[in-house]
Amino acid sequence: MMIVKFKQFFSKITRDLSHLVYPNSCLACLNELAQTEHHICSFCYNDLRLTKFQHYAEPTQMDKLFWGRVEVIKTYAHFHFEKNKASQDILFGLKYKGNQSVGYHFGKETGKAILNSEDFSTANAIIPVPLHPRKEFKRGYNQSEIIAQGISEITSIPINTSIIKRKKHSETQTKKDRFERWDNVSSIFSVSYKIEELNHVILVDDVITTGSTLEAIIISLKQKKPELKVSVVTLAIA
Ligand SMILES: [Zn+2]
Repeated sequence: MMIVKFKQFFSKITRDLSHLVYPNSCLACLNELAQTEHHICSFCYNDLRLTKFQHYAEPTQMDKLFWGRVEVIKTYAHFHFEKNKASQDILFGLKYKGNQSVGYHFGKETGKAILNSEDFSTANAIIPVPLHPRKEFKRGYNQSEIIAQGISEITSIPINTSIIKRKKHSETQTKKDRFERWDNVSSIFSVSYKIEELNHVILVDDVITTGSTLEAIIISLKQKKPELKVSVVTLAIA
C-alpha cells in the first residue's frame, strides 16, 4: 500500500514538473499561450477535430472496429488523429517528449466528454493499457496511465494498474503472418484473479488504429471472466 501511495505521489510530482518544462507556448504552433489556454492555443484547438462520439445515437466508426471481434459496451475517442496537425503534436508530446501534463489535461477533457454517459458510469475501474515494463522504465511513465489519471479525476472512477500485466517475453512480430501475429498478441497479457471483483472496466489507450491490441486484452480479460463488461476510451482515433 505504501509503495502504491508513493508511486501515485511521485507520479503526480513528475506530471506537475513536466508542466514547468513546457511553459506557455502552444505545442502545435509554438506561439505564446494566453492565460486561459492550455497546451495548445485556441487557434490550434479549433483545428483539432473532436469526434463528438458522445452525441451519436448510431454506432460510430470506433464501435464498428470491434464488430465481429469482441463485445464492447461503449467506446469513445476524444479527437481524430491527423498527420501534421495539432492532434499529432499532442500525442507526440505525451509519448516522446515527456510532456505528461498535456496527457493529463486531455485526459480530463475526455473525462468531461463521457461524464454524462450512463454506459460509462457503471464502470468500477479504469485500466490503462500496460506498456512493456522495459518501455515504461525507459520512458519513465505509461502514457495511457497519464490519460487515465485525467479521466479518473473527472469521473471519480478509480484506476487499476495491477489487473493486467504485459508478460515479460515478447518476440519480434514483423515476420509473422497475420494469424500467427494475432495468436501471439493474445498471449502477451496476463490477467490477475482480482478481475473477479470487477463488473465493468474501461480500457484506456492513447490512440486506437486497428484495435488489435485492445482486442487482445479484451480476449484475455474475458478468458478469466466471461461475463465481464468492457468499454474502451482513447484520446485519439486514427
Ligand atoms: Zn497554436
